Amino acid sequence: MAKQSDEKTKGKLPGEARVVIIGGGIIGCSTAYHLAKLGWKDIVLLERAQLTAGTTWHAAGLIEAGGFFDATSVEMTRYTLELYSQLEKETGQSTGYKNVGMITLASTPDRLEELRRISAFGHEFGVPFEELSPKQVKELWPLAVTDDIQAGFYYPNDGRVNPIDVTMALAKGARMGGVQIFEETSVLGFVKDDKTVTGVFTDRGEIQAEYVVNCGGMWAREIGKLAGVNVPLQPVEHYYLITEELEGVHADLPVLVDPDNYSYLREEVGGILLGVFEPVSGPWALDGIPKDFTFGEINPDWDRMMPYVEQAMKRVPALKDAGIHKFFCGPESFTPDLGPMMGLAPELDNFYVAAGFNSLGILTGGGAGKVMAQWIKDGVSDVDVTEIDIARMLPFENTPKYLKDRAVELLGHMFEDAYPNKQFKRARNVRKSAFYARLADAGAYFGQYAGMEYPDWFAPKGVKPKVEYSWGRQNWFEYSAAEHRATRENVTMLDYSVMGKVLVQGRDAEKYLNRICANNIAVPVGRCVYTQWCNETGTIEADLTVTRIAEDQFLILSGDATITAVQAWLRRHIPSDAHAFITNISSAYSVLNIQGPKSRDFLSSITHSDMSNEAFPYLTMQEIDIGYALVKAIRVTYVGELGWELYIPTEFSSHVFDTLTEAGADFVLKHMGLQALNSLRLEKAYRDYGGDIDNTDTPLEVGLGYFVDFDKPGGFIGRDALLRLKESGLRYRMPQFLLEDPEPMLYYGEIIYRNGKPVGNIMSGGYGHTLGASVGVGPVENEGEPVTVDYIKSGSYEIDIAGVRYSARVSLRPMYDPKLERVRR
Ligand SMILES: Cc1cc2nc3c(=O)[nH]c(=O)nc-3n(C[C@H](O)[C@H](O)[C@H](O)COP(=O)(O)OP(=O)(O)OC[C@H]3O[C@@H](n4cnc5c(N)ncnc54)[C@H](O)[C@@H]3O)c2cc1C
Repeated sequence: MAKQSDEKTKGKLPGEARVVIIGGGIIGCSTAYHLAKLGWKDIVLLERAQLTAGTTWHAAGLIEAGGFFDATSVEMTRYTLELYSQLEKETGQSTGYKNVGMITLASTPDRLEELRRISAFGHEFGVPFEELSPKQVKELWPLAVTDDIQAGFYYPNDGRVNPIDVTMALAKGARMGGVQIFEETSVLGFVKDDKTVTGVFTDRGEIQAEYVVNCGGMWAREIGKLAGVNVPLQPVEHYYLITEELEGVHADLPVLVDPDNYSYLREEVGGILLGVFEPVSGPWALDGIPKDFTFGEINPDWDRMMPYVEQAMKRVPALKDAGIHKFFCGPESFTPDLGPMMGLAPELDNFYVAAGFNSLGILTGGGAGKVMAQWIKDGVSDVDVTEIDIARMLPFENTPKYLKDRAVELLGHMFEDAYPNKQFKRARNVRKSAFYARLADAGAYFGQYAGMEYPDWFAPKGVKPKVEYSWGRQNWFEYSAAEHRATRENVTMLDYSVMGKVLVQGRDAEKYLNRICANNIAVPVGRCVYTQWCNETGTIEADLTVTRIAEDQFLILSGDATITAVQAWLRRHIPSDAHAFITNISSAYSVLNIQGPKSRDFLSSITHSDMSNEAFPYLTMQEIDIGYALVKAIRVTYVGELGWELYIPTEFSSHVFDTLTEAGADFVLKHMGLQALNSLRLEKAYRDYGGDIDNTDTPLEVGLGYFVDFDKPGGFIGRDALLRLKESGLRYRMPQFLLEDPEPMLYYGEIIYRNGKPVGNIMSGGYGHTLGASVGVGPVENEGEPVTVDYIKSGSYEIDIAGVRYSARVSLRPMYDPKLERVRR
């Protein structure tokens, strides 16, 4: 299998380059190819061995666009297919591209629903599919047993490539665009000037560089360490076997994916290649990747794999009699949340990463290279990167134990049902708030976000908090509904410690922060301001609140997974000589969120502070006493009710919790989890960054224009772009939808139809227990024309859920409490 690249640049390394790309696998070559396509010159790619010698050479070469449930992945894979299909023509280098199609089997009703939802989503992004009966699957794949399946989903554009050849074609295309590729050249370290890498050390000399891109595959973690950049990934064993020639197997056989049996099958020189994504997999090279691992293989443990091979033999009985030509095991990089790590490293200002492709590097490779090149060129990405941005990773995720423990389940997770709210099972109880044990006693079912355990919902007394996944109403539906109602009608308490907290302080804090914020944060001490941070193109980099806690101190509250990105953005936009200092104080405070119409009476019964509307208006902060503790109380809500978030110095957490729950007995205080929070906030159409809005949205188009202060002195980053947008008209708007039918469930990705035509998709949905049906938000477009209020209001809407269309009401104002009467009371 091992193949030397045809062309090798042996010459002297240049002393300087505009871009140095590290790694000659599919990702490095694709990034180089696309940068060259953008007209960039002076690009150097360094490969320690030969091109493809890492993971790329032994990939199975499946390429598909049909199986993804987020716009970025679908765009990347769809583009990859397009690129690979014409690369040979462009470069003269064959790619082994074969458009044989792919069939994914649904063996259970839940899988059927999942594939219907995913396929309908992909279809809107230009990925054709056909739902096949078991008989039709049998016709296309006569060797497969299809009696037990519900259906097959056929994606005619999918297929396979030869990973070595396609990488060589990208390398050739890159060279044709002027890229210099040096093999047998190892990167050993970096020269840095504060937050900039100025040079790359190699075993053949040093290259000064304007930009560095770490495409080092499973070595990217070590390369990251050399630069001081956090790249948490773990090599994991991945297995396939190839049989001798088999009758009935031919080169045009579609790829067959059988996720309920953890396997995929395709033709390979007249035999079958059977790959396995087993539920308990093997993290590899826990003590470091062997130095000489080049075109390397791992000693396979086939006993471990036999149960899955036997399952595959049931699906394709001809496998039983087939001779085995090759047992193969190779390593692939997996990340703790199964998303790739791409983009500008938050630690540095010119060091990009593209690594951790979770067994999808070939099929996303073309698109990933394109995304990287555009990102490097413009400094901001034009696709939603909230699930792929390397800045979401936290430092603890790079500990060997976390990586190893999580890695065990990652392969299997790829093929298991992608239920809503699906949680990882391993590497749990890693980060826990100070309330964890008390919440567990109260019946909490915990989810995990950014490694932090959070209460998702609470089981009533005597019921075990255990989730039963489904696409319909999951077993906790009624428990969460009760939490929702208690928040609307009475008072509830939510552990919200997962929030990221950053303090910006100093004489210049106001000046620089006000330039970063689209809203005006030059407010009196004690005011809390909801704002977006935009980039120069006017799209949203962060969505958060800023509370002025002193003349020279601002408390920033954001989602936990954006905490690193928030700090990096601040660092990059506050001059280093300014008198403004950024401190992550997330661990210094626990947070309890007290919400509901009775929250004032409840808190007033404990604190000596005046909680009245006059003394404590909406969007203000005061320090109040709770028992022996002083806590920062911010009157703010994410559920649309009267309420306060309490920021409690960590060491007082238990005391405050106990004081509140004790006093809460008289008020029938109930715990609330994040499922109820989501339902409540969706009824109010409050936005969720990374959920319904992302880095490609502008505040104006997603209905947050009210929070943009165009007139404040000094302006803000992105103002000009937003003014231009105002002038030219909004490309889309993001209304709220409520299904007329109270039964079906909205989650994500459901296609929105206006007057019978698709106009967008639901970005996040959930059940609105007060509104009495599923509620969601999603963008509505108008075939490239500006979208007016009238256009939204004048349409009649339906939403497609797994192939059935349901009529929906639409509103640009929140359907629940549009006048904010409940919030401001
Ligand atoms: C068995 C198996 C089957 C697979 N099948 C599929 C499939 O069907 N479809 C699919 O999409 N994906 C598949 N994958 C995954 C796919 O192979 C990877 O996602 C992809 O190859 C990763 O590419 P990469 O460029 O990130 O890494 P690599 O190919 O590993 O490239 C990184 C390169 O960096 C070089 N390097 C490392 N350190 C340095 C240094 N210090 N200096 C210079 N160079 C350095 C390495 O030598 C290496 O060549 C499979 C993986 C396995 C293991």
